[in-house]
Amino acid sequence: MSVGKGERSDRRIHSVGAFRVDIDALWGIAHCCRAELCKKMKCCCEVYDVSVTQKELSCIIGMVEAGKGFYAGLNSHSRCQEFFEEGEGGVFSLAVDEDMRCVLAYRSRHGLRCYLHSVALRLKLNPYRTKPQACAIWPLAVSDGRRPALGVQESAFSFPCNRRRPARGALDEGIEQIIRETFGETFLDQLKEAGVERRCQGEAARNPDGGV
Ligand code: SF4
Ligand code: SF4
Repeated sequence: MSVGKGERSDRRIHSVGAFRVDIDALWGIAHCCRAELCKKMKCCCEVYDVSVTQKELSCIIGMVEAGKGFYAGLNSHSRCQEFFEEGEGGVFSLAVDEDMRCVLAYRSRHGLRCYLHSVALRLKLNPYRTKPQACAIWPLAVSDGRRPALGVQESAFSFPCNRRRPARGALDEGIEQIIRETFGETFLDQLKEAGVERRCQGEAARNPDGGV
């Protein structure tokens, strides 16, 4: 048995599937998108740069083409390339208009809507699997790197659809839905197990003399 100075482990961070997950952050947020909430302020489609992978790019091109018959507003974009901007190192991101709004957002009487989301619903596809992952998981976020971290987007609480909640009990329903639809039921089950483990750690820390 070795004794000595080791790396301090961050007990909040758990390995779940391919991710390092900040359990307290995920359990500490409630989310419910209702576009009318952000009608009078900038919404999530007007604030972020959304990077897209090659695979996502192909999917978006397909969805834009498939939806042209439904949404006349987008027909003015005659070439799919106009939906993307190429950055350094061949990385693509979604193009924005002069108001910094994603060009795939459109205004409805309920507020801004995502064109990809609407087309997916019309085609009976899962919108979480047809939008770029960064959009599908918001207000969550995944970091780059070999062992990506899954957590909460830093600025999430400045939007009216997100609120803080005590990081205990069950995962918020809105967050649970995002995780299920994007990463699947198995990952969600693993995450919930990690949540139970985290609560046990918290209980043990509060009550160090408890148990045998
Ligand atoms: S997720 Fe939030 S900020 Fe984005 S459209 Fe919905 S209510 Fe608005
Ligand atoms: S792709 Fe859709 S969800 Fe993502 S920023 Fe654009 S409009 Fe918003």
